[in-house]
Amino acid sequence: MKITFPHLGNTYIVVKSILDDMDVEYVIPPFSNKEALELGTRYSPEMVCLPLKINIGNFIQAYELGADTVLMAGGCGPCRFGYYSQLHREILIDAGYPMEIITLEIGSGGIGELAMNTLKIVKKNMSRIQLPLAIGRAVKIAKRLDELEMLSFKIRAREREQGRVDKVYRSFRRKAMEKCGSREITNLIRQTEEELRGVVLNHRANPLKVGVVGEIYTGIEQFASFEIQERLGRMGVDVERKVTVSNWIIEHMIKKGLHLPRDLRYQEAASPWLGAMIGGHAQETIGNAVMYAQKGYDGVIQIFPLSCMPEIVAESLLSSVEHELGIPVLTLIIDEMTGEAGYMTRVEAFIDMLEKRRECEKHEVGRLLSWN
Ligand code: SF4
Repeated sequence: MKITFPHLGNTYIVVKSILDDMDVEYVIPPFSNKEALELGTRYSPEMVCLPLKINIGNFIQAYELGADTVLMAGGCGPCRFGYYSQLHREILIDAGYPMEIITLEIGSGGIGELAMNTLKIVKKNMSRIQLPLAIGRAVKIAKRLDELEMLSFKIRAREREQGRVDKVYRSFRRKAMEKCGSREITNLIRQTEEELRGVVLNHRANPLKVGVVGEIYTGIEQFASFEIQERLGRMGVDVERKVTVSNWIIEHMIKKGLHLPRDLRYQEAASPWLGAMIGGHAQETIGNAVMYAQKGYDGVIQIFPLSCMPEIVAESLLSSVEHELGIPVLTLIIDEMTGEAGYMTRVEAFIDMLEKRRECEKHEVGRLLSWN
């Protein structure tokens, strides 16, 4: 059995480290690319979610490199993610790539059943002690990776020499491929963090602050959003995104599975506009946008794939959040036909508008102060 998995930002580093530790054979698909999207689009139903199409492309490219089994997350709830794994299986068989699919999901047996069923499949001789240790290490790495990415967002917006952070971060992603096991990966993360903290900053910079909300895949997978967060950083914008892989694992899989208290501040913030879970991350989208407005952020960017039901609902509610709380919102909808140039023109126009808005507010405050 040779395992593969779909790309989702830095998740390949988490999965790779745990599979290395367990001595399981795997294939990492090439980073998501145009060819993967074309393959996925060719074999998937037209109106299916964009992430599923890119996943299919990842799997086919991994199959061609020798993979025969797919490991991926599953879920239940009101959006289409719940039947992704079935759809993947059918699409791959029809297209002539008969791959086995192992779905990581919490069923009626809770998190214990999830852990035993899945990790025992990939490593049948794994002991009961090794299992929680492996999960613990994977969660820790996922958390450190998200912290590293957020640090890169902060520093990129303030770096004195443009391109330093890109250089460090790209080299990190490349080197991660060559490392083996959680210990080596943890050391690499620590070294990269030190390198990022050593980047010379422009201490006079006062970057715009923008919160990114929306569907999890397009928020995290750089290829699916035309690297929007990195591009915003290069434009001198300080980006924040609360929906991360580690947050999803800790809050939605572990704490929920073990019935532990969860961080549900976003639900409270969203409740005047959206009081129920409608699937995907719609409640996080509204709740986080509200919290960004309350914290004085300059703007919010919502990203989601065409036809994503939960985010379409969130989009319609965001316009009242925008007007009632006075925070500008830009919505970007992505599919395989989206043109990069038009997309970036909209982003640049939005950032120009935020800069002008901040300048006007500064003048207005100055005018009021000179009156008194
Ligand atoms: S959240 Fe949206 S894009 Fe993701 S599976 Fe659900 S409907 Fe599809």
